[in-house]
Amino acid sequence: MTNHGATQRASAPAPQGVPPELRRQAGLSENEIAQRREALRQLDEQEVKPCTRCHLCRTRTKTVFGQGHPAARLVFVGEAPGRDEDLQGLAFVGKAGQLLSRMIEAMGLSRDDVFICNTLKCRPPENRTPAPDEIAACWPFLDRQLQIIQPEVIVALGKPASQTLLRTTESIGRLRGLFHDYHISGMPMVGKPTPLMPTFHPAYLLRDPSEKGKAWSDLKQVMALLGLPLPA
Ligand code: SF4
Repeated sequence: MTNHGATQRASAPAPQGVPPELRRQAGLSENEIAQRREALRQLDEQEVKPCTRCHLCRTRTKTVFGQGHPAARLVFVGEAPGRDEDLQGLAFVGKAGQLLSRMIEAMGLSRDDVFICNTLKCRPPENRTPAPDEIAACWPFLDRQLQIIQPEVIVALGKPASQTLLRTTESIGRLRGLFHDYHISGMPMVGKPTPLMPTFHPAYLLRDPSEKGKAWSDLKQVMALLGLPLPA
């Protein structure tokens, strides 16, 4: 794959024929889905929105919990909200978010089929890199989101999200392109691991379009694992 990856693929017609049973987790009743939706809502309303665990609460405009389907098979995790996200309280709504939408559509899915969130729920001032104490304070929220949703695959967008979820200092260049095990609460003994694919952040792809082909290659691996039809 060359750099004619995510964007060019994304601007092409999405793969047709992704059946409904492949878009969301199968075998869940409407009641179970409603319970997960309510659990996410309570986590957001009761714990994230009023959170003062770290000093980012003083500079945020809105918390950004993330949005999507409570029974998503696929969860995207980015680093932290940016300016647009902070103003709107929604994850990935700026230019990077638009590219992420096109990447999801190129997979034959929509944003309503997946769940999109960040490791941090509040914007670091001037979009600076999150500090270790901020990540440590906020990480339990993400972990609980993943416990509720129980995705079949996680895609970590960019170095900070990948390093946080995998608890490593390895570079994104070495992490991406391979599935890694994500353990709930970082504890291998709690349930079976979830496959996690690190790939480049859409904001990075906007700065360096030559890497889009690698990102698309990563997403095609995710599609194969989920049994989604690959484009011709
Ligand atoms: S970044 Fe996370 S831990 Fe810090 S105030 Fe916001 S929600 Fe709380």
